[in-house]
Amino acid sequence: MADRQDRPVALITGAARGIGAACARRLAADGAAVAVTDVIDDEGRALADELERDGRQATYRRLDVTDEDAWTRVVDEVEAALGPLTVLVNNAGIGTLEDVESETREGWERTIAINQTGVWLGMKLVGSRMRERGKGSIINVSSIFGAVGGFGGSIAYHASKGAVRLMTKSAALHWATSGVRVNSLHPGFVETPMIESLKGTPAEEQILAMTPMGRLARPEEIASVISFLARDDSSYMTGSEVYVDGGWIAR
Ligand code: NAD
Repeated sequence: MADRQDRPVALITGAARGIGAACARRLAADGAAVAVTDVIDDEGRALADELERDGRQATYRRLDVTDEDAWTRVVDEVEAALGPLTVLVNNAGIGTLEDVESETREGWERTIAINQTGVWLGMKLVGSRMRERGKGSIINVSSIFGAVGGFGGSIAYHASKGAVRLMTKSAALHWATSGVRVNSLHPGFVETPMIESLKGTPAEEQILAMTPMGRLARPEEIASVISFLARDDSSYMTGSEVYVDGGWIAR
């Protein structure tokens, strides 16, 4: 493992399952110390334990990304335990299906709070610390649905993911000369608990028919690109939107 001073230190939100969990495993395998954060404590703790059993350095902390005080407390604790953060993966998110007419005020505000405000809070708190230290990589997980209208539903999801795409560019420009890079990652459909309810339904068939590669992504196929954006291999990339979508956006 890299020397404690040199190794990356990563915080991943929504890391108990799905893409976030694959990302935690991948960044840990790359040699990073990893803070697994989520609101599902048992699964998050189990993942951090698994990583430690594998000889990695990991810790679990409960972090509801909508809670500003929790962000400050968790980042303080993680930096005390693992060292200064060099990587932030703003991955936590929820899916919605309601369209422009059927969405409720409550559903709208919850989706925006988690998928959009949570990303801003993470960038604000962690990015400012990275800027003071002159180094950091932030990866914001958006979606293909942050760029196109999909099926004409999921209005709050599109709103939040589109915002993540442009918040990424704004922050990237703000920190462009400071050593802090910010990029957005746009997955197509990925086999995770988020889309489990679609399994075997006509919606899944429609998704597969619309995906040029004709299959869903494995979470590891998203994590490997997050790993690239986290490392200095992507040192000249900031403000970029990276699609990992089996060709969806190419249409
Ligand atoms: P998932 O549901 O499997 O995992 C999401 C995680 O976020 C869960 O562990 C959940 O507990 C956590 N979470 C939810 N609300 C939270 C909160 N308030 N604070 C902290 N954590 C919270 O979903 P996934 O498919 O792994 O999605 C990860 C990210 O990828 C999301 O931002 C999602 O929008 C995006 N994405 C997913 C797909 C897909 O097809 N699965 C496609 C494009 C983008």
